[in-house]
Amino acid sequence: MKQRIAILGSTGSIGLNTLEVIRKLGNRFEITAITADTSIDLLEKQAEEFAPEFIVVRNKENAKELRNRIGGKVKVLEGEEGLVELTKSADYDILVSSLVGFAGLVPTIEGIKRGKRIALANKETLVAAGEIVTRLAEEYGAEIIPVDSEHSAIFQCLVGEDKNTIEKLIITASGGPFFRKSHEELKSVTVEQALKHPNWNMGSKITIDSATMMNKGLEVIEAHWLFGLNKDKLDVVVHPQSIVHSMVEFIDGSIKAQLSLPDMKIPIQYALTFPERLSNDFVNTNFPKLHKLSFYEPDPGKFKCLQLAFDAMEQGGMAPCILNAANEIAVEKFLNKELTFLQIPDLIEKTLNKIPNTFEVNLETVMEYDSRTRETAKNLI
Ligand code: MG
Repeated sequence: MKQRIAILGSTGSIGLNTLEVIRKLGNRFEITAITADTSIDLLEKQAEEFAPEFIVVRNKENAKELRNRIGGKVKVLEGEEGLVELTKSADYDILVSSLVGFAGLVPTIEGIKRGKRIALANKETLVAAGEIVTRLAEEYGAEIIPVDSEHSAIFQCLVGEDKNTIEKLIITASGGPFFRKSHEELKSVTVEQALKHPNWNMGSKITIDSATMMNKGLEVIEAHWLFGLNKDKLDVVVHPQSIVHSMVEFIDGSIKAQLSLPDMKIPIQYALTFPERLSNDFVNTNFPKLHKLSFYEPDPGKFKCLQLAFDAMEQGGMAPCILNAANEIAVEKFLNKELTFLQIPDLIEKTLNKIPNTFEVNLETVMEYDSRTRETAKNLI
């Protein structure tokens, strides 16, 4: 029997790579649902090729337009409520959660409540609501398989291992486009420069997060929840080549790593087919051609976001949720050229200081803190 897949965010970078994997694996999978914010031309093409039962378009005008074009053949839903209806009622075995930002949280939770496999690419879900998401996954027997390359690497290194034998996780970071720039030079970097990632081709939100290293901060919090480990067991090391995707050091001094040329199709395929490994021709990692792999300590003075994330994780409660929402606003304002690059961490820090933390963690509090943080951050600009 074919496995059925619903992709939240099928026109984004992870969504397109997922469809590429499915094309290559042919008759093993079928697509039952696809979604996008506004890209209806691409959705229409995807619908022709993959014949899903459901399509959701977040923008209601665009949804109407798509319904006019292909309505009748397929159910076209709209808005946030459409995403929730899809995750509640579409027929799928695996939910690929690849929306950008906090918007992915509620639909992902619906997939978890149905006990489905979640191929999780939306790290903000675990950052903002890690405690709730991991608790529900356990309660409903949903498997969360990470798609983020670092977490997929760690997940793969841990297969067959006892979690009690972990000494620490070593999460690698490319350092982004500004790794070699001085603090002084960072004052004047532009949006265009920040959008040029040296190794990965990704959406704009995550590319800016990589340039500030907030991406790594969010990934540390993601790892904290996925693998149940605290600050003293989570290390970050800068590795500019992005070949070692992350490592696990064990108590006997052994270190396991997962390596390959950077290509998101590898962790995506693994999340879809785990525990099986299937043959593909995505990359050919040729060691003599790589010459060298290098590693550096991250500079917390230069990349303040990384430290802010570690601190928010240690504080717990709503701090990571505030960190995430403030970051989403800061990145949006930087992309609109309303903030400079170094004002991104400043805004996040000011917002964290302005909103009193609470340790009463439930979905309502998360929703409330998320919107309150967005308001506060906007007012602080
Ligand atoms: Mg990553």
